[in-house]
Amino acid sequence: MSDKTIRVRFAPSPTGYLHLGGLRTALFNYLYARSQGGKIILRVEDTDQSRYIEGALENLLEVFRWLDIEFDEGPDIGGEYGPYIQSKRLDIYRTHLKRLISEGHAYRCFCPPERLQSVREEQQRAGKTPMYDRLCRSLDPQESLKRPLNEPFVVRLKIPLQGRIDFSDGIRGDLSFDVSEIDDQVLLKSDSYPTYHLANVIDDHLMGITDVIRGEEWLTSTPKHVHLYRCFGWEAPKFYHLPLLLNPDRTKLSKRQGDAAVKDYRAKGYLPEALINYTALLGWHPSDDREVFTKIELEKEFSIGRVSKAGAVFDVDKLNWINRQHLNKLSDEQFLEKAAEHLPSEIDFTSEKGMKLLQAVRERINNFKDIAVELKPFTGDRKLPDSGEAWEILQEQNVKELLHYLIEDIDESPEWNADIFKELVKKAGKKAGVKGKSLWIPVRIALTGDMHGPELGLIAEILGKEKLLILVQETLEIL
Ligand code: GLU
Repeated sequence: MSDKTIRVRFAPSPTGYLHLGGLRTALFNYLYARSQGGKIILRVEDTDQSRYIEGALENLLEVFRWLDIEFDEGPDIGGEYGPYIQSKRLDIYRTHLKRLISEGHAYRCFCPPERLQSVREEQQRAGKTPMYDRLCRSLDPQESLKRPLNEPFVVRLKIPLQGRIDFSDGIRGDLSFDVSEIDDQVLLKSDSYPTYHLANVIDDHLMGITDVIRGEEWLTSTPKHVHLYRCFGWEAPKFYHLPLLLNPDRTKLSKRQGDAAVKDYRAKGYLPEALINYTALLGWHPSDDREVFTKIELEKEFSIGRVSKAGAVFDVDKLNWINRQHLNKLSDEQFLEKAAEHLPSEIDFTSEKGMKLLQAVRERINNFKDIAVELKPFTGDRKLPDSGEAWEILQEQNVKELLHYLIEDIDESPEWNADIFKELVKKAGKKAGVKGKSLWIPVRIALTGDMHGPELGLIAEILGKEKLLILVQETLEIL
């Protein structure tokens, strides 16, 4: 192992909100840096001005603050290699590109888009992979130098005409690409901004990046990058391409099925540490069967050698399970603090009643957003069924009688709590000749509109006698 300090980077393009795939890349870089005593930098790759989205960087920084993922150098922190925003580094790329051109590794291409389009169509008709036909590669360099004054142009990389480009991937092993499959990549666009490929390679070198950890979708770009490093005479970093994230049906993870923006998981009320824990398991697994980790534990446990190349399936049930494990670790005070923005303000959760409610709800939720759903039965704000199984249960013989007796008995009872309620239900059941499910389910439907839910005694206690009488009366009216 080399004694070089590990330096990794997360290099997002500010083209939208950070999604789960981006978070996974950031997290694996972060965990790798922390587990190796290295440094992680954040670099904004915004050279594709047409895809720039206002506010994307702010969203990114906000998400990382929420997750408590700290970068060692970056656009908001600075550091000795800054600025870490590529659009502020254009001169650096231009200087390096000039060198590539003068040393014969890159050339100006004047082909208009219409020509490129017809070349592409012809190749497609012939069943070939569309690639630039390299017409301008043989232009006289003198002529090429004169033309740019009045003609739009791009600069392309000269990929060798024969041979292979090899490199070793830390996850996939030795890889080899035939140059015939590699296009003469555009390095400078006609708007005179560098492409991702040029700026990314130059910055990785200048910023001393030792290890590039990124998604599998960049794998086919890597031979071009390896060649660029050679042209510049620089040592390439080590590459790791993370496995794809997949839907349960093994198609590429879609937004609909889970690749939501991280801010949406936050809005749903997942704990940041649970999202980190779950995301860490998307392609990485520890040396044993353990699945629940804090961020600090992951910083110690993570090893890049245990990242697999097989696609990682997103499983919302597992995310929910992991979130529940982290929720379970919270004291009531911590729970209330973290759930604060999801709690209804009209309930005092520090009161005796409120505490009972909290217990009932805590064990039933996957995330904080579920709190409102779970609290619903306790509010009396319910919709009675007008069809389906619950409706049919209400139509059963004896239900009307049962509810009548219940009203009578409750009305007469001077005291009120969960146990008294349960006794009164049993008493009414006896009079109406029903017990077990035939007794409890209609009562539950009358109070909550639902066949399932939290403990009924507690619901009745919290609703209070008066409200409960109204609910049962209303149910009788529709029968
Ligand atoms: N800017 C690229 C992105 O948006 C970075 C890819 C890389 O890590 O090289 O993902």
